[in-house]
Amino acid sequence: MTSWIDGTVVENIHWHQNLFTLKIDADIPLFSAGQFISLALDIDGERVARPYSLLSSPAQTPLEFFFYVASDGVLSNALVNLKSGDKVFLKDQAQGFFILDEIPSSRDLWMIGTGTGIAPYFSILGTEEVWQKYKNVVLVEGVRTSMDLPYQDLIEAISQEYLERFVFQAFVSREDFPDAIKGRIPASLEDGSLEQKVGLRLSPADSQIMLCGNPEMVKDCVGILKSRGFEKNLRRKPGQITTENYW
Ligand SMILES: Cc1cc2nc3c(=O)[nH]c(=O)nc-3n(C[C@H](O)[C@H](O)[C@H](O)COP(=O)(O)OP(=O)(O)OC[C@H]3O[C@@H](n4cnc5c(N)ncnc54)[C@H](O)[C@@H]3O)c2cc1C
Repeated sequence: MTSWIDGTVVENIHWHQNLFTLKIDADIPLFSAGQFISLALDIDGERVARPYSLLSSPAQTPLEFFFYVASDGVLSNALVNLKSGDKVFLKDQAQGFFILDEIPSSRDLWMIGTGTGIAPYFSILGTEEVWQKYKNVVLVEGVRTSMDLPYQDLIEAISQEYLERFVFQAFVSREDFPDAIKGRIPASLEDGSLEQKVGLRLSPADSQIMLCGNPEMVKDCVGILKSRGFEKNLRRKPGQITTENYW
């Protein structure tokens, strides 16, 4: 039997028509950075729940989530209309293994995501653990247009704090944007242009890679990385590739 915790919306930030952030006050048990939790609303007499990655770090309040409004999506089209003071339900426990405890140590950690798939990385980047465990952290975000790149202030703050230990690289597929690579992440892994731009070489000995978001991007990247000698990270057999598919 699922038990639910009441949450209260503190703020709804509309980045644009299809992208928004909810800040939610809710007393959930401690979670690990990188985990997700089910959010739910009662819609037409039915409780509709979906999993969402926590963008906020475990020590942070209020909780923060980053959403895409899926076309004809039942829950995301309801969540986008929430206002400060509105109620939302949260499952009583966050879940998931997309967390640093499951990822071996290495020199570099590459966090690669599409769109809202960048959310768990911000949660992890806000912990001390990631900076103790890895020398360099590379955050890669793939989007369609530059409008899909909010959180630049947060990225800038991390850059200021960790200097050359942190690199952010955007991919914008549908327009030219300063410092972004125009195109798709898998193609850039294949031709080496991501490594060239970032200034770090991917190698099974020195790199751990997290992939999150669009399952097609995840699958394509896994295929390319495997052809370069990387392996999926499994509990029974540690490797270098850890994945989270959003659908
Ligand atoms: C572990 C996990 C964590 C997730 N975390 C997030 C998150 O932090 N933010 C978030 O927006 N979604 C996240 N999702 C997706 C989320 O659970 C819902 O699927 C999404 O909000 C759509 O729900 P819906 O009821 O509106 O649409 P549905 O009717 O369930 O439609 C689902 C369809 O919408 C599309 N879709 C779903 N999610 C996305 C997305 N994020 N970006 C682009 N297209 C999408 C896909 O085509 C999918 O088939 C996560 C999913 C999983 C499994």
